[in-house]
Amino acid sequence: MDDRTGPLDAAHDHARRFLDGLDTRPVWPTASYEEMLDALGGPLPEDGQDATDVVETLARSAGPGLAGIAGGRFFGFVIGGALPAALGADWLTSTWDQNGAMTSLTPAAAAAERTAGRWIVEALGLPSGTAAGLVTGGLMANFTGLAAARQRVLGAVGWDVAQRGLAGSPPIRLVVGAHRHDTVDLAARYLGLGRDAFVLVGADDQGRMRPDALRTALRSGAGPTIVCLQAGEVHTGAFDPFDALIPLARDAGAWVHVDGAFGLWAAATPRLAWLTAGIEDADSWATDAHKTLNVPYDCGVALVRDSADLVAAFAIDADYIPGSGEDPMNLVPEFSRRARGFPVWAALRSLGRSGLATLVETLVARAASFAEQLARLPGVEIVNEVDYTQVMLRLKDDALTVEAGRQILAEGTAVLTPAQWEGRAVLRCSVSSWATTEDDVAQTVAAVERVLADLV
Ligand SMILES: *Cc1c(COP(=O)(O)O)cnc(C)c1O
Repeated sequence: MDDRTGPLDAAHDHARRFLDGLDTRPVWPTASYEEMLDALGGPLPEDGQDATDVVETLARSAGPGLAGIAGGRFFGFVIGGALPAALGADWLTSTWDQNGAMTSLTPAAAAAERTAGRWIVEALGLPSGTAAGLVTGGLMANFTGLAAARQRVLGAVGWDVAQRGLAGSPPIRLVVGAHRHDTVDLAARYLGLGRDAFVLVGADDQGRMRPDALRTALRSGAGPTIVCLQAGEVHTGAFDPFDALIPLARDAGAWVHVDGAFGLWAAATPRLAWLTAGIEDADSWATDAHKTLNVPYDCGVALVRDSADLVAAFAIDADYIPGSGEDPMNLVPEFSRRARGFPVWAALRSLGRSGLATLVETLVARAASFAEQLARLPGVEIVNEVDYTQVMLRLKDDALTVEAGRQILAEGTAVLTPAQWEGRAVLRCSVSSWATTEDDVAQTVAAVERVLADLV
């Protein structure tokens, strides 16, 4: 055995065993962070260790500190599993070790990324020619879309931000919903748009931006304006009413950005088209491949209608790089980068258009089934309108909800995660994994039922 096959064979063996064991291991980690620091910590050893032993040691030590995210009963946060084709492609991505920045050096990586981006644009019904850049996640996809927006709205008043920077520039208004994701604020901060730039727009009881409130907000000022909408509120899964909102923003001359980290994929099926109606009229869209599309971490997708806006924001000239207009790095904030196009290409190739639609429809059907079965348990109230993949429940009082949440995690069958909604404790259940079956839903409901029976 040469020094390459040993570690790879060990990794393959552990990967297989990990995946095979997902159904029977506790979904929440059984070891704490402190225990993991003990297991993996200590001083940097003076001498090295055999590579195969290193992989063996890592796999054995990490085991109890791993969450069952890749399995069928992880419903925490909004996470997503890993489709088998995407996982296989991701292994190859590491093995091939391509720097996915340039068409000349890594043509396969660039072509996979370009094709995957085009497929996403087609599958989601976005304007043809929309540019796609693969980034690390939704935060960076928001950053990328908003960077293109900043370039354009300032350019429209004669200020080239790439040339002149922000100091002394005309102020930008960033019009956002009350229920935007926190990463929009962070992305704005990266862009030099502090909280003073924000104009807050009220929402309805599901977190959807209200058109009348947007109209008022747009009238309250002038100048370069970006309106940031949302497809998929992180708790309720609610979608902003794009067909009412986007024309208002357009009339005000604003750039429209949509944070659709997990919700944009509703556009992949005609059955859910009512949720995203009008969304194609935006200027930029942010989504994740590592959530609803079930590509392994990490991968986000920034989509911008006019690639010139992305190129103006991100293209660089380096004298040692044989640049091409098609270089993936021209569309994203990074320079050297992982070849994320391979796993995204593989996920979409394995699903096809119909498989993608079925994937999304199935997640939504499981969420509906969840809500229906949970609502039948005594004392359980479903808090949100379950139109998409998110279900929120609460019990008679906050203390009970919090304690039930703690016990469900400890019980190990499934993961639901705690949160606050309108000032009250809730448990969130996000159906985001291709691996979730109807049996997983039933097992989870049964676990919740057992915990509740013990509690009351
Ligand atoms: C998850 C999420 C994000 C952030 O995406 P990351 O991939 O975690 O960076 C942004 N917006 C919404 C609505 C999300 O659900």
